[in-house]
Amino acid sequence: MKIGIIRCRATENYCPGTTDFKTLALRKGSFASLPEDEELELVGFISCGGCPGKDAVLRARELMRRGAECIAFASCIRQGNPLGFPCPQAENLINAVKRDLGPHIKFLDFTHK
Ligand code: SF4
Repeated sequence: MKIGIIRCRATENYCPGTTDFKTLALRKGSFASLPEDEELELVGFISCGGCPGKDAVLRARELMRRGAECIAFASCIRQGNPLGFPCPQAENLINAVKRDLGPHIKFLDFTHK
């Protein structure tokens, strides 16, 4: 399964996404819920574009255009990792992407604990 990850632009300033990449490689966190018999391939890792996150929709479309079958929202968005500072727009951002991309793509609302 091809995966695209969308992360928080503000968190990008101090987090290179190491735990997301490691969690995906080890099929842990939310990636453990994906079918065991499918190889996981990361096709893109991109930010929301900055507050208030509206560019996440365009960026998710681009990930899908490049083959993503699953969009994962990095834990910096809803859980606020690693600072415990969730995105104030998390629900709007995630719901806008889900509405736009529709039912034929899988979504993961976080990546790791
Ligand atoms: S909209 Fe949310 S996810 Fe995007 S940069 Fe701002 S705080 Fe981060």
